[in-house]
Amino acid sequence: MQFTIWCKEQGDTDAAAWSEEYNKTVSDAQAWAEMTIAAFNDSLHPGEKPRVLVCVEVAANKEKLRHDWKKASLVTEVRGVRMFDRYRCSQCGATGKRHGVGDVKPDSGTPEWCHPEATVED
Ligand SMILES: [Zn+2]
Repeated sequence: MQFTIWCKEQGDTDAAAWSEEYNKTVSDAQAWAEMTIAAFNDSLHPGEKPRVLVCVEVAANKEKLRHDWKKASLVTEVRGVRMFDRYRCSQCGATGKRHGVGDVKPDSGTPEWCHPEATVED
């Protein structure tokens, strides 16, 4: 699962917390995070402060949604010998291209999965 751990140094406020992203095969991200922080605190180097777990955000709880691709180009574009159509997701505004008869591939930098709560740019 994918999850983000927010932690801070002991004595700091929550505002000073930083996040670390993980993608691990664990059944309980919270327990794993607590164990990891505890292990870190047990092996502190001189000058390091103990860390405190602030919270754990699990991203995998969200259902992965496919983009709702709608054709965005009026005519098929040709680049060299390749032809493609541009697509835009009606839910999140993500853009992608479809070459030939395959699936629409999200453009580079575009999330593979749809996040409809994101703002649609239009
Ligand atoms: Zn989308």
